[in-house]
Amino acid sequence: MFAERMKRLGTETAFEVLARAKAMEAEGRDVVHLEIGEPDFDTPSNIIDAAVKALKDGFTHYGPSAGLPEARKVFAEHITKDRGLKVDPENIVITPGAKPILFFSIIALVDEGDEVIYPNPGFPIYESVINFVGGKPVPIPLREENEFSIDIDELKGLFNEKTKLIIINSPQNPTGGVLSEEDMKGIVELAIKYDAWILSDEVYSKIIYDGQHVSIYNFPEAKDRTILLEGHSKTYAMTGWRLGYGVMPKELADHVARLQTNSTSCTASFIQMAGIEALTGPQDESRKMVAEFKARRDLIVDGLNEIPGIKCLRPKGAFYVFPNIKGTGKSSKELENLLLEEAGVAGLSGTSFGEYGEGYLRFSYANSQENIKKALERIKEVL
Ligand code: PLP
Repeated sequence: MFAERMKRLGTETAFEVLARAKAMEAEGRDVVHLEIGEPDFDTPSNIIDAAVKALKDGFTHYGPSAGLPEARKVFAEHITKDRGLKVDPENIVITPGAKPILFFSIIALVDEGDEVIYPNPGFPIYESVINFVGGKPVPIPLREENEFSIDIDELKGLFNEKTKLIIINSPQNPTGGVLSEEDMKGIVELAIKYDAWILSDEVYSKIIYDGQHVSIYNFPEAKDRTILLEGHSKTYAMTGWRLGYGVMPKELADHVARLQTNSTSCTASFIQMAGIEALTGPQDESRKMVAEFKARRDLIVDGLNEIPGIKCLRPKGAFYVFPNIKGTGKSSKELENLLLEEAGVAGLSGTSFGEYGEGYLRFSYANSQENIKKALERIKEVL
């Protein structure tokens, strides 16, 4: 009855756990939400004011598919300044959230049978969309002993002539791991050697606690084979606004914009105007948010490491921890269920992010310190 290709499309189980947690709440249970990947802060007021002004100024119409010229200009200037590599407005495509950049880039680049290397555990949408277009997903395992970075020797064994694209994500969801300059260099060299594209998902670029963000644009030699994915969702607590963008060679940008013409038409005009304010206005709210995330990270990492059977690295970025739960003797899914049902703590099984997530859970610490403390006490009690 339905198209064959729908069998190949995956999903994000975070939304399923959220639905179960909500159902429990409806029955009067108290649940601490550590399953959701979004900042719990409000969008800074200067951004909200800019959106209201744009609405009143008439930014209520269709705009060009690739984005409003003034927004593409500012986004290009931002990337040029922030990453230190010159990009032009014609390299920018603005989308409703960063997710469509993933979807459109994979559709535009990957033919049936093409191989795509992607991080596992990783954001589940990568594998889902690779399968959807008939590509062959080739997981690169991210291992705890390697601080969830990519082992370049292992990666060498995965590249071949059929490799069309490699997806990387730093800081990473779900592990909070970051790629070092050296690892990134190894990835770039392999992509050049095998003439592959690189999709660098840098949506957490500003949520980093130790050291500097290493961007794919630190390697100018990769620019003409790179899609840099960025967005406002995480940095400015704008998940529900839906605003993201990709930076890519002009020829690819034209294809991605045409995919947008065929689907969403364009990103809401007033939201793009608010996005300009986010990048050019004061950054102190965003910085405060990151400082608070850092305090929460330390709270949850220290607390988890006090619980027998759990061992947790201190992630360098994003707002997730990915504790090793092998010492509990339970599978990831069993523990996800147990914690939700008996402790009222919603977290995600590591396997929601791929097969190499077995033995781990993901907790998002985008929740108050008070709630994190409550969750830690409950987990300790149940275990
Ligand atoms: N990339 C990663 C790694 C993410 O974790 C997310 C959101 O959870 C996205 C992309 C998508 O971001 P957006 O909400 O802007 O579509």
